[in-house]
Amino acid sequence: MGFLEYEGEPLPFNEIRPHIDHVKRHGILQFLSSYRRAQERNDDAFKWGDEMEYSVVHFDENEIRASVSLRAEKILAVLQEKYNDADTNSHQVSHGPGEPWGSHWSPEYSRFSIESCPAKPYQGSLEHLATVEANMRFRRGQVKALLKPGEMLLSLTGFPRIGCNDFIGPTECVPRPILSPASKSIYFPDCGITRHPRFPFLTRNIRERRGSKVEINIPIFKDTNTKSPFVEVFQDLESNTAAMPDHVYMDAMGFGMSQACLQCTVQAKDLDQAKLIYDQLVPWCPIMSALSAASPFYKGYITDIDTRWNVISASVDDRTEAERSSILQSRFGHVQLYLSQQYLYLNDVDTKINDDAKNTLLEAGVEEGLANHIAHLWIRDPLNLYSGRINIEDTTEADHFENIQSTCWQTLRFKPPPPDKDIGWRVEFRPMDGQLTDFESAAYVVFVVLLIKVTLAKKIDFTIPMSHVLRDMDRAQKNNAVLTELFRFNINFRNNDENIQKKTEGHFQIMYTTRLYRKLIPLIMRICLESCSPRIDRNDDGCNEMTIDHIINGKGEFTGVISLLREYLDETGIEKEARNGIERYFELISKRASGECLTSAQWKRHFVRTHPDYKQDSVVSQLIEYDLLRTCDILEKGETQEKFLYFNSSIPSNN
Ligand code: GLU
Ligand code: MG
Repeated sequence: MGFLEYEGEPLPFNEIRPHIDHVKRHGILQFLSSYRRAQERNDDAFKWGDEMEYSVVHFDENEIRASVSLRAEKILAVLQEKYNDADTNSHQVSHGPGEPWGSHWSPEYSRFSIESCPAKPYQGSLEHLATVEANMRFRRGQVKALLKPGEMLLSLTGFPRIGCNDFIGPTECVPRPILSPASKSIYFPDCGITRHPRFPFLTRNIRERRGSKVEINIPIFKDTNTKSPFVEVFQDLESNTAAMPDHVYMDAMGFGMSQACLQCTVQAKDLDQAKLIYDQLVPWCPIMSALSAASPFYKGYITDIDTRWNVISASVDDRTEAERSSILQSRFGHVQLYLSQQYLYLNDVDTKINDDAKNTLLEAGVEEGLANHIAHLWIRDPLNLYSGRINIEDTTEADHFENIQSTCWQTLRFKPPPPDKDIGWRVEFRPMDGQLTDFESAAYVVFVVLLIKVTLAKKIDFTIPMSHVLRDMDRAQKNNAVLTELFRFNINFRNNDENIQKKTEGHFQIMYTTRLYRKLIPLIMRICLESCSPRIDRNDDGCNEMTIDHIINGKGEFTGVISLLREYLDETGIEKEARNGIERYFELISKRASGECLTSAQWKRHFVRTHPDYKQDSVVSQLIEYDLLRTCDILEKGETQEKFLYFNSSIPSNN
């Protein structure tokens, strides 16, 4: 999550209110200061890194049950002490292949979670792609060495019975009495929140700004014995009013923010290239979300979604009641704007913007696309503020910028160079669910990095109108979306110039130049797209609705994206061993796309629904959860022998 230094007292939201304008105004000035300093940087090396989140799980052999473990806090302290800021090169000789990249350990939102990334970034060399898995394993090994018998490290997104009685353990680590002053949750106690003030204060301030507890309603998966309608009854009026029939109701930030994701960040050559990378990754967010789906269970129920996305989104939704009808998404949501000038005409979604922020940015010479992007983030208020960090220097500090930037959790994050480090323009890819094994995690991260590299090398253009991407992101969350949903995809991605011309033909090439235009654009774009819809829908336009299998593996004349990546690797002459490693990753992605191999989410559904203790009532019992997590642990440990651990074409995939 980043950004953990503070001075003075953390403020509750009513004490932040008088400072909102100050923070927002100075946040923009701090961005401008970074922008001016870094605008001309033009030869940064292509570098990249991954970020993984994990939870520590405790098994109680007497009661045959599993819980998330607060011992993670102690383990994290040891990891940080031992490995952060260590000189990674000095270890090079004595350890395995992942060691040269080292490890860096950080806290995450929940007190039972840990986050890690390599201590230093990978570089542009293709051979580095083949070392990421070893580094992931090396990092996991550092935690494993600190686990006690009966503990495991879980990187599989969500804990199935999160929010059920005693889901946090072990008993001796849980502080009593169990209270929730920050979230007011009836399920997720505050002792599950990391103790750094950022996290409880985020929780509290989101609730206070919103004016009620957060409301998370996720459709239940209806099995043959599931109550219908499925209705939960609560002691308190607020929960009873908020909960929807046929949905699993949750009421705390912890339900979302304790879910683990798999992210990767790349550093671009310069500002323009960073914007291009960001834009080209936009259409990949729904596809990678569905392909990496790993989170179907919440509060001990099987739900009808496969990913963590909508749960986190609702879990940090600080919009007031009025804003919920005027602002499209929560702070955790899909990006709504392309950044590069040549793609601004594809911004056809009604996007709220902070006009003052935009004017300041434009007057300072920031280009249209980036000004819109920052001004869109600036519709949000700061949620964390410390009494000792209100009046700060705009040229050397970026707290107020980061304050809002780091609490807008979108599918992509555009990261300007920080004031105090020699780092270039970066883009973070955030939609993917966490994966059980390092093999899978490496496969997904390498796939994304290769997409970026091929896009830059071959001037590929994946962009499509933003409204399609947003609609596909909704589709991507559904049960088995990877096989059952259709996604818009630009199959003419190779013909970049022709593409742009084709897509703009028949549309007005409109820029966000005036306030009036900005209000009219969504309407005009919708009319244009609708009137041109036969062109958009027809195969010859290239923006087709396709299955993920078709997109990844190809069909007919369209040879698919993996073949594009293979072609790129062939042309660049990657060393044989590295190439073989990457082929294993392609195989996994290819088989997940075709259904020959199950996503984590589908494999877990199958496990639960075929467990002898399952009563076809959508309930993941304590025993089922125990067995599922034990099996995950065995699979994770045996992954080299079972690299296609979810591969089983005899498993029906329509569950
Ligand atoms: N756990 C969050 C997610 O799954 C991300 C938190 C972060 O920004 O690192 O997307
Ligand atoms: Mg994180």
